[in-house]
Amino acid sequence: MIKENLKKIKAAIPSSVTLVAVSKTKPVSDLQEAYDAGQRIFGENHALEMRDKHEVLPKDIQWHFIGHLQTNKIKYIIPFVTLIHSIDTANLLEAVNKEAKKHDRVVDCLLQFHIAQEETKFGLDMEEAHQLLGSEAFKAMENVRICGVMGMATFTDDEAEIRKEFKHLKEIFETLKTDYFAGQPQFKEISMGMSEDYPIAIEEGATLIRVGSKIFGARNYN
Ligand SMILES: *Cc1c(COP(=O)(O)O)cnc(C)c1O
Repeated sequence: MIKENLKKIKAAIPSSVTLVAVSKTKPVSDLQEAYDAGQRIFGENHALEMRDKHEVLPKDIQWHFIGHLQTNKIKYIIPFVTLIHSIDTANLLEAVNKEAKKHDRVVDCLLQFHIAQEETKFGLDMEEAHQLLGSEAFKAMENVRICGVMGMATFTDDEAEIRKEFKHLKEIFETLKTDYFAGQPQFKEISMGMSEDYPIAIEEGATLIRVGSKIFGARNYN
């Protein structure tokens, strides 16, 4: 099933869009099945779970961290993580920079923005982003590299609302590119779209989509 699901999704997305297979809560055997079908990019949202899976799975997998990252858990993923999608405070970025320095790495990160109507979703607003990117502290960070933005739309059937939120994230991306990253080609990623809304996200300019249940089936959190 996993193999067929992957094949179907990959056939339907443009080659300019990268598929992150969100494997949180799923057993290693499911990830191995996706790997055997050619998938190399996996997304996880718990640091220890990602570390444990990294230890036992093939080393050419690229691990993307997509969940809320607690500062005391950063150390578990910094040695190997490929991209952190979920930088949602200046403090977190600072802490990632510090840990990356210990490992002599430059870690790629996205800034997560709050674009949904729900209060519960994490993320920066524009004012916080300007404060962060304009700060001397940010300019001094040599072990992180900001590659773009990430956001989650409201959980709703209202397609117009979802589209509006993705358009908003795209505007945020363009504004930051002009204001802080002009001439920096690494600032190119817009991570948006999940199982239920990735086709809309792609229409609105997503470069990375994060798809879990449409690949691996529904999650059981018990
Ligand atoms: C779980 C999760 C996804 C994938 O969700 P699905 O609806 O299963 O595709 C994408 N992004 C984030 C941040 C997630 O936590």
